Amino acid sequence: MEERKTATYEITSEAGGNRYRFYCDVSGALVCITKPYHADTPKEELILAWEKEGRQHFNKCRKCGKWIIDAVYNPVVFECTDCAPFEYETRYCKSCGAKINVDAGERFCPVCKKKLHYEGG
Ligand SMILES: [Zn+2]
Ligand SMILES: [Zn+2]
Repeated sequence: MEERKTATYEITSEAGGNRYRFYCDVSGALVCITKPYHADTPKEELILAWEKEGRQHFNKCRKCGKWIIDAVYNPVVFECTDCAPFEYETRYCKSCGAKINVDAGERFCPVCKKKLHYEGG
């Protein structure tokens, strides 16, 4: 599979150049609209708009290579929620390695009774 260099995009032409609208590959949400860019070739122009403005808004799925926003990014495994749905997410106690049922909302490890620390709260 060819690696995706940018997220899904649409181009809006203007007098000063082309504006790029970047979309999340999984949710389809419009993530950012760039200022107008102009370059010698369409390819250079796209990369310019992407590097300067688009890219910072996205995460990349390590598995499928899609560019995605935080809402559909599973930071525990660095994959999109298509590849790693939140409901199948598995976590382990950092103290003793016990498997934790995240759905149960446990705050303390059932095995060693230490407080659990999750990324992002
Ligand atoms: Zn993915
Ligand atoms: Zn534990």
